[in-house]
Amino acid sequence: MPIVCGGMNKQRNIKFIGKADEVSLGPDTVQQALPLKHIEQVDPFLLLHHFNKDIEPGGPALDVAPHPHRGFEPVTFLFEGEIRHRDSRGNEGYLKSGDVQWMTAGMGIVHSEAADKEWVAEGGKMNLIQLWVNLPKRDKMMQPAYQDIKSENIPVYDNHEGFTARVVAGTFNDLTGPAATRTPLNAVHGKLEKGKEVNLPVEKNHSALVYVLDGFLEFNDKHQASSGFIAIFENEGDLLNIKAKQDTAFLLLTGEPINEPMATYGPFVMNNQTEIMEAIRDYQTGKMGMLTY
Ligand code: MN
Repeated sequence: MPIVCGGMNKQRNIKFIGKADEVSLGPDTVQQALPLKHIEQVDPFLLLHHFNKDIEPGGPALDVAPHPHRGFEPVTFLFEGEIRHRDSRGNEGYLKSGDVQWMTAGMGIVHSEAADKEWVAEGGKMNLIQLWVNLPKRDKMMQPAYQDIKSENIPVYDNHEGFTARVVAGTFNDLTGPAATRTPLNAVHGKLEKGKEVNLPVEKNHSALVYVLDGFLEFNDKHQASSGFIAIFENEGDLLNIKAKQDTAFLLLTGEPINEPMATYGPFVMNNQTEIMEAIRDYQTGKMGMLTY
């Protein structure tokens, strides 16, 4: 049975559907589902990278040298693999399959992210999403924060008809995710069995997107999306209709648009160019902290 959750129960239409771009990130390639050529963001979601690779024993593997962030939240959903994280605020994280790291860069943080060395020695599949969630103007210069979310603390909705949803942030069918967010948003890792159909509930005032991690989905009985595709929805309606043509894993992101001016430069996302210049200067003068390898 499809899930229906109050409201006017109107299916949303698709605004855009397409394949992520393959982009280089240092020595690695990732699938970049956001931003795309004519799509700067799905407010409040700025960037969506999918790293999905078989790592040979001994590597090379994901290894990102220290770099800064200011003005938004870098979030890592680790589906498979093991990652270590260090930052200039003294946080050290160790993520395993199913864990999520929800970082609030705020006024600035310098961090490094790398596959765990012992894990790399064995090799295996590394599958993760990195998502940038914008911060509203009032929070861009807040003190940085860091949430290390263990897989076992993520509640799982199960409709017992081939659909499960791990609720990382926000709410989904009466379950609430553990991640605290600065603006209202929902982040859900869904799985739908081949041949099954569901209507996913979305708040009326939220932007919404679905990224297909693995599998094949059909939306509204007509639009199709295979692995690495993103579907972005129109803002009218409160249900997303999906049908699985294969066993499918996907990420559902919905959020209240921030609707503020944006100025970006690499890892800094602010409201105007002056703030970008300040961010560059503050990073160069060590005000975001230091992190040596
Ligand atoms: Mn980063």
